[in-house]
Amino acid sequence: MAMPEKGYEPIQVKLLDWFESNQRKLPWRLLYRPYEVWISEIMLQQTQVKTMLPYYSRWMERFPDLKSVALAPEEDLLKHWEGMGYYSRALNIHKAAQVLVKDYGADFPRDYDLLTRLPGIGRYTAGAILSIAFNLDFPAVDGNVARVFSRLFDVAAPVGERESQEVLWSMARGILPEGKARSFNQSLMDLGALVCTPRNPSCTRCPVRAHCRALQMDVVSSRPRVQRAKDIVSIQTAVGILGRGGKVFIQKRPPSGLMPHLWEFPGGKIQGEETPQEALVREFREELELNIRVLQKIAVIRHQYTTFRVTLHAFACQTTDASPRIVLRSAVDGRWVDFEELDRYTFPAANRKLICRIQKEPFDLFGWNSRQVFG
Ligand code: SF4
Repeated sequence: MAMPEKGYEPIQVKLLDWFESNQRKLPWRLLYRPYEVWISEIMLQQTQVKTMLPYYSRWMERFPDLKSVALAPEEDLLKHWEGMGYYSRALNIHKAAQVLVKDYGADFPRDYDLLTRLPGIGRYTAGAILSIAFNLDFPAVDGNVARVFSRLFDVAAPVGERESQEVLWSMARGILPEGKARSFNQSLMDLGALVCTPRNPSCTRCPVRAHCRALQMDVVSSRPRVQRAKDIVSIQTAVGILGRGGKVFIQKRPPSGLMPHLWEFPGGKIQGEETPQEALVREFREELELNIRVLQKIAVIRHQYTTFRVTLHAFACQTTDASPRIVLRSAVDGRWVDFEELDRYTFPAANRKLICRIQKEPFDLFGWNSRQVFG
């Protein structure tokens, strides 16, 4: 690996000049309010800028400051996050906002150690808040910056590895011009987003091409080196739309584990040689102590999460118990709701797709099934 050349000044000057006239116009860059910078950074952790911008606007309209987040019901935050995934990000924002309001007068401490003690704020987010919001000399290495460094300084080891990360962070510290962290860190981020892109980087219009080791060595297309992607696991599940008296039953997932606090239709993984219908009958017995009859297949929904792919077999069903009494064995809450009310709750993406499918094709459920499911 080639370490940065001595004297970073030419690179710093070129990047800062380039940023001056090429920076992306983003809403949190208007005033650089710490709260806005923080929310934008958390949203961007797993979501592309183009996707997150409408979420960001809606969030800022509903939660314009730390106090409004701290006082909001958790369900409201999750609803505004629905569709972006990784819901623990929203829950951590809630917890951190409550600490900031209670212990720091609804402000952000300008202190790395204090910031990193807050839920959901690690090395990157603290560095981004301190440099972008307060213009303090802290590095911030996100995916864009890692890619730019891996090419500019020809980092041959996979950038996801722990050792490579340490090297990248030390490069980011070393190259940071004093007193200019806000513009400099963002110039690297924007260069990665606009010019030094993952595929087909525009080297001919890159302000630092004269210093780029990967370009000199003709290895741009193999930088950054990536680790072998983890195998995507495929999961088959069965879920039941349980109807009674014109309402459907939904339950709330526990606060820890996958997709905490989200609502869902009951069901679970199909095991061994089970059919989806058999799995559903078993799951209802195990999880709700309820006997059901599976009436009709409603849809098969496929959704790819980051590390697994789910196929969800959805059925209309009704209970066969004369006086049904639901016992929640793993869920923390359960409710009978009107179908129109489902939009008020936050669901995992595959469940939400299922709801949209039923809303588009209501007769499958409310036509043929209405007498049997809801009778
Ligand atoms: Fe990236 Fe090309 Fe610029 Fe090197 S010259 S930093 S590879 S855009």
